[in-house]
Amino acid sequence: MQIGFWGVRGSIPTPLTSEQLKAKFLRLIPKIPPEIQQNPTELEKFLATFPQFETGLLGGNTACVEVRADNKILIFDMGSGIKNLGNHLLKASPNRQKLELHIFLSHTHWDHILGFPFFTPAYFPNTTLNFYSCHPNLKQRLEEQQDFRFFPVSLDHMAARKNFIQLEHHANLKLGNIHISTIPLNHPGGSFGFRVEHEGKVMVYATDSEYKNLDQHSTKENIAFFKDADLFIFDAQYTFEEAIHKEDWGHSSALVGVELAVQAGVKRLILFHHDPDRSDFEIEEILQKSIDFKNITYPNSNLTISLATEDLRISL
Ligand SMILES: [Zn+2]
Ligand SMILES: [Zn+2]
Repeated sequence: MQIGFWGVRGSIPTPLTSEQLKAKFLRLIPKIPPEIQQNPTELEKFLATFPQFETGLLGGNTACVEVRADNKILIFDMGSGIKNLGNHLLKASPNRQKLELHIFLSHTHWDHILGFPFFTPAYFPNTTLNFYSCHPNLKQRLEEQQDFRFFPVSLDHMAARKNFIQLEHHANLKLGNIHISTIPLNHPGGSFGFRVEHEGKVMVYATDSEYKNLDQHSTKENIAFFKDADLFIFDAQYTFEEAIHKEDWGHSSALVGVELAVQAGVKRLILFHHDPDRSDFEIEEILQKSIDFKNITYPNSNLTISLATEDLRISL
């Protein structure tokens, strides 16, 4: 199974500001030895040794994750990141051969659907889009997003063949040899998590969810759903302190992600749905704190933790 991240922010697309870019330069330039500054090859090699938040970007596009398995392409959410994914898919298929895509929606808040009108493959008649949603009326919701008052092209005028598949709240389905199940998550208006299994590997995509109580009874169903995942993509929008103050806002924190991941025996936790008001440095700090927390609280756990970044590619 291959997993690609195309959008990792929550709430609203978040381009880097000039201030933030300057802060990156000011932090990086003093670390570069003067003797290699004039040598582009050496400089590039040197910069490649830095973590991404220092020399690159974590990414400002909203939620979109691509999963490939069994010669199929699955897409989780259609945030602004889906635009670049669409361009990539067309580039890889220059003759616009038949593309069949399976799009799973956690829910229809703007940050999870706003990229779809800019998803170029949807404009070609030989593309087939299969939409899967546990929410009712998905077609109508997407039509409303593209009402002429808000966007010049209606959903019907996008030429791709579109199939809408309504799922049960606790659904189990098979796409070839891929097994997919769903779980309701605690979020205003409801959100749904997805567990994808293929050839013994497990990926869980569980974004936009709040966990009010971490006692065994409250988390039992979630822990069973996350159980032994190789990769666990988790809504870590808030710091732990924010999560306490923003009760009922429907998001979670990295520390809660660590608790759930350890209890479920997850191998790798990916912090996702980064807050739009946080700089890359601040998000990196959250990662470091959650690694420290894990090392102090669960020193025997083999859990690894990393940040979702827009060019992150993982093979399971
Ligand atoms: Zn969201
Ligand atoms: Zn939401």
